[in-house]
Amino acid sequence: MPNVDLHSHSSISDGILIPEEVAARAKANGVDLWALTDHDELDGIPAARAAAAELGMGYVPGVEVSITWAGQTVHIVGLQIDETNAQLALGLVATRSGRERRAREMSAQLERAGISGAYEGALKFVGNPDLIGRTHFARFIIEQGICKDVPEVFRHYLIEGKPGFVPHRWATLSQAVTWIRAAGGVAVVAHPGRYKFSKLATDEFFNAFKDLGGKAIEVMTGSHTVDQYAIYAKLAKHYGFQASRGSDFHGPGESRIDIGTLPPCPPGLVPVWQNW
Ligand code: AMP
Ligand code: MN
Ligand code: MN
Ligand code: MN
Repeated sequence: MPNVDLHSHSSISDGILIPEEVAARAKANGVDLWALTDHDELDGIPAARAAAAELGMGYVPGVEVSITWAGQTVHIVGLQIDETNAQLALGLVATRSGRERRAREMSAQLERAGISGAYEGALKFVGNPDLIGRTHFARFIIEQGICKDVPEVFRHYLIEGKPGFVPHRWATLSQAVTWIRAAGGVAVVAHPGRYKFSKLATDEFFNAFKDLGGKAIEVMTGSHTVDQYAIYAKLAKHYGFQASRGSDFHGPGESRIDIGTLPPCPPGLVPVWQNW
């Protein structure tokens, strides 16, 4: 079975490495088919494609779109997209536009919680100013010695109900799937095990995604536990979704699962990459 990794980040969004470095690490870890899927941003694609070609590694142009569904943030990965498509590009410009205001508000809230200078501090970790996000704040808070790792910062400061959390309205499910399909791509639900949906809401979400033309879900992701690999394999079969595999690698020493090191997909699933 080929080693496929269809979810990873560079410093174009909230990853640590530049696209060429992510490509080199994927190759070194034995990846045969790779997608860089930066958050709400297509700018890394040309460099990623060129680096993969240089290394003789298969490449899939991708993106991870932030959406709000039933009050929660959900991520939809688009694969095999045409990054020159105007509808997708303009949709992502609109999605990115609220990030700076949100970041300033996060900083004001963190200030009240006793952490000063968080906006400027987070900016030092930002490769692309349009894409300032929670991970950059997490790196600053670790640098200050307040927490030891990214998950701990999220638990204490950056999730709903915590002092640095600012609710944000991203794109809709319909917009994300429409933009991805307009660009000739395949829409994939990212790390489905991460959302705090009831069984009923999960069913509603998967049906809505499918009705819009969504094709696949991530079964193997760095966010899933071993138990969740089996749960989402079963759900993929139940809903007739193809299965994707992607580490969600953000950087060495930061991501629990390195790029290209997830177990293979369980048998009996249709891989989203089967005809690529
Ligand atoms: P944002 O787009 O600014 O809301 O940030 C979302 C990003 O934060 C995700 O793509 C992950 O990289 C990171 N993230 C979200 N939740 C967690 C968590 N619980 N632990 C660690 N990282 C997280
Ligand atoms: Mn991220
Ligand atoms: Mn995600
Ligand atoms: Mn991701």
